[in-house]
Amino acid sequence: MKNQSNVQESEVTRAYYQLMKDTKASGYNLNPDKNFARDLVKSLYINKQRYTYQACPCRLASGNKLDDLDIICPCDYRDADLEDYGTCYCGLYVSEDVINKKRHVEPIPERRPVKEIREQTKNQQESYRNPFQTKKDVPVWRCRVCGYLCARSQPPQRCPICKAAQDRFEQFP
Ligand code: SF4
Repeated sequence: MKNQSNVQESEVTRAYYQLMKDTKASGYNLNPDKNFARDLVKSLYINKQRYTYQACPCRLASGNKLDDLDIICPCDYRDADLEDYGTCYCGLYVSEDVINKKRHVEPIPERRPVKEIREQTKNQQESYRNPFQTKKDVPVWRCRVCGYLCARSQPPQRCPICKAAQDRFEQFP
């Protein structure tokens, strides 16, 4: 196991630029404060070495990947936080409005449920085999441009396939 002193700054820089490229390609935005974003990428890099997966730098990971699936970056809560607060919990990702200075980033509350609730939800989800036949309170969204489907509480900010904006999604019956 490596520790922080083993971090190769050149690898972190490479990881940062790769993430920036991937983020743009998928229609999302990294925080424009380069040093801040790079520090978070460095923490993700360290977590990858520590846990073998990129656990969120702002949350306490358990070290058990199955328990931490929801906080592997980008976490399950990113889009909802971008929608409601203009930033993900750590501030690594920001919304288009923040980039265009129409909205300021502010501290946001933790959206991740406590462990007991997560376990309950996991047990319920395991009883559903088809991801598009999930609980009634998890709607399925369809991109009207390319037909991409996803089951989540809100449609994504951008379609990961065709990059259509959120308002091009409709609820799938
Ligand atoms: S809060 Fe941001 S940095 Fe943390 S896992 Fe979610 S998307 Fe990644």
